[in-house]
Amino acid sequence: MATFNEGTREIAEEIDARLRENPEFSRRLGEFGFIELEDTWGDETTILNTARVSTSNRRIRRVEDLTEKDRNLLFHLLSQHHGTPFETVYFRFRFIAPIFVLRQWVKHRISTWNEFSMRYRKPISAYYVPDKAAVTVEGFPVLTPDQIDRYAALMEEIFAFYETEYQEACRRIDEAASDGRLSGEKKDPAARNPYRARARELLRSAMPVSAYSDVYWTVNFRSLMNFFDLRTKENAQYEIREYARTAYDLFARKFPLLSDLYKKAGNAPG
Ligand SMILES: Cc1cc2nc3c(=O)[nH]c(=O)nc-3n(C[C@H](O)[C@H](O)[C@H](O)COP(=O)(O)OP(=O)(O)OC[C@H]3O[C@@H](n4cnc5c(N)ncnc54)[C@H](O)[C@@H]3O)c2cc1C
Repeated sequence: MATFNEGTREIAEEIDARLRENPEFSRRLGEFGFIELEDTWGDETTILNTARVSTSNRRIRRVEDLTEKDRNLLFHLLSQHHGTPFETVYFRFRFIAPIFVLRQWVKHRISTWNEFSMRYRKPISAYYVPDKAAVTVEGFPVLTPDQIDRYAALMEEIFAFYETEYQEACRRIDEAASDGRLSGEKKDPAARNPYRARARELLRSAMPVSAYSDVYWTVNFRSLMNFFDLRTKENAQYEIREYARTAYDLFARKFPLLSDLYKKAGNAPG
């Protein structure tokens, strides 16, 4: 694993802190991967109350007060794929995953993304290394440990390249600034140095898709079910599947009744 830069060390410390502070709803994936169900909005009552607006004035305040009839209605809505009532419950996940996983995840357009920026910061200096399960198909290892070692060495080289070239760019920028050769110096002391920012923008092109990135993902339950459906199946790539299955476990832990009915309705993963 490449030597962690300062920002990456901070993220690693933050992951450790979240695993301690919110152990029930956070998980590590591999060496640097991470996912946490940080927050949710709404619950089973929200779904039932919004669905019932068309048929009844009865409203439920607490999940503990749900009757058999309420549970039957929830089951009916899930099994008949009623759409909009499920759009009223929201989830905010934070996950740290390789960029190639993010490229698949971001295709789930009905959701909101906020992602780490390599324009404003140096890259996260950690990269994905496939473990034994990841390289094995039907008992056959498609890559040998030697190949993984060579891959890791190449990744190390790329991260070292970034660090060396960025330092060199910063050295030249600072030298030019002290010689008074820079006209575009920032006027506002709080603004970012535009020369360093441009160097980061250019050098990020060298980063591999195995580099980790950091995302807040906000999604409603309807879209989340679609994500579970598509990304926990065997035909989804192993890595995103691992994240999707973990996200499902966190969801099920938070909403035992909803996940139970979702399973009984035959739509849930596993
Ligand atoms: C195994 C697998 C392999 C894949 N391979 C590829 C690949 O090679 N290349 C690639 O680019 N993608 C690939 N995808 C991504 C896939 O095509 C979808 O983009 C992705 O799964 C998101 O699904 P979605 O559109 O249902 O989700 P969302 O974008 O979250 O949309 C949710 C739902 O909203 C509706 N919706 C959203 N946008 C529109 C729209 N513009 N018009 C009409 N309805 C809309 C649809 O009903 C959709 O199901 C793959 C996905 C899987 C699971």
